[in-house]
Amino acid sequence: MTRRALITGITGQDGAYLAAFLLEHGYEVFGFVRRSASAEFVGARLKWLGIYDRVTLIDGDILDQASLIRGVRDSQPDEIYNLAAQSFVTSSWRQPHLTGDVTSLGALNVLEAMRLEKEHARFYQASSSEMYGLIQQPVQTEDTPFYPRSPYAVAKLYAHWITVNYRESFDLHASSGILFNHESPLRGIEFVTRKVSDGVARIKLGLADKLSLGNLDAERDWGHAKDYVRAMWLMLQQDKPADYVIASGRTTSVRAMCDIAFRHVGLNYRDHVEVDPQYLRPAEVERLLGDPSKAKRQLGWEPTISVEAMIAEMVDADLRRHKHGSVYG
Ligand code: NAP
Ligand code: GDP
Repeated sequence: MTRRALITGITGQDGAYLAAFLLEHGYEVFGFVRRSASAEFVGARLKWLGIYDRVTLIDGDILDQASLIRGVRDSQPDEIYNLAAQSFVTSSWRQPHLTGDVTSLGALNVLEAMRLEKEHARFYQASSSEMYGLIQQPVQTEDTPFYPRSPYAVAKLYAHWITVNYRESFDLHASSGILFNHESPLRGIEFVTRKVSDGVARIKLGLADKLSLGNLDAERDWGHAKDYVRAMWLMLQQDKPADYVIASGRTTSVRAMCDIAFRHVGLNYRDHVEVDPQYLRPAEVERLLGDPSKAKRQLGWEPTISVEAMIAEMVDADLRRHKHGSVYG
């Protein structure tokens, strides 16, 4: 029997890569998509991966409980991946209430829809290393205490704990993946890696000369989204649900990441990068570094793409994008 998966957030970076991965593995894929006045851009990432016509899109919003219930009823999924969120940390200070609704209560709505319509489906919650925030241990594991530093991280903490709570209360197969930052050519342009890859491409092509950034000393444990969506799937293939840290085990500063990106096209970042205080945050997460040992041991998961290879891929994609004037290169 063909297995069925329902993905909320299918139009985002991870949703698109996960949909491609599941199609490759023989799944029938359903995506939950909110209505947009700019419908022609909504499926851009799915089109970039050449899978737009192979997924079934269901109209709905994770704030609209009835639409979720209908979505689960219509698609009858074996696996539900809750990736929908207001996912940009900076926006979470500008739209804190909306972030709370979508990023925290949205997860509750999906869990409730699953309980009502498909209790024995398996559930994945997209948790985040941002929950560690002001880090309480130099290397973060599943047992490291959380200390969120933004409305986004606070909202993710609720979604994480409601997933754990529903697993324990109702015996659901619900797992939470604590994923460290992961990027790709499909990353939103507002995130720092993609902002840098886009900036490098524009500077290389003579379309710009400067790139304004915020805190260059922040350090992140960066991996590739393609590797990370495989981990999501692996979690739902286990007999027992659990929570896992998914990380590369290596941290890189924003400055060092700029160096990698500019050097890839023969430029020196010091000639082009400037710090603009408008990009500094009210409260910063200075350093994240994950320990993925549990995922390696229990899931057999390991990342395969280095930060250098990923940044090179992103810069090359942005060079193509600017040359051809397309959205995703
Ligand atoms: P993304 O590109 O920002 O995608 C977010 C998705 O959520 C989009 O498809 C968006 O739809 C959808 N969405 C937002 N509000 C919605 C609503 N009210 N109803 C239905 N859908 C809604 O994020 P991503 O990078 O793919 O990340 C996927 C998930 O993993 C997110 O929950 C994120 O917070 C989490 N996460 C990401 C990372 C990372 O490094 N990428 C790390 C840890 C956790 P539109 O296209 O309509 O906006
Ligand atoms: P986050 O870890 O989910 O917040 O992912 P981001 O890619 O948005 O930010 C990663 C780090 O880069 C944070 O510590 C930011 O403060 C830092 N950073 C420095 N300059 C910028 C910038 O111009 N834009 C963004 N988005 N982040 C920046």
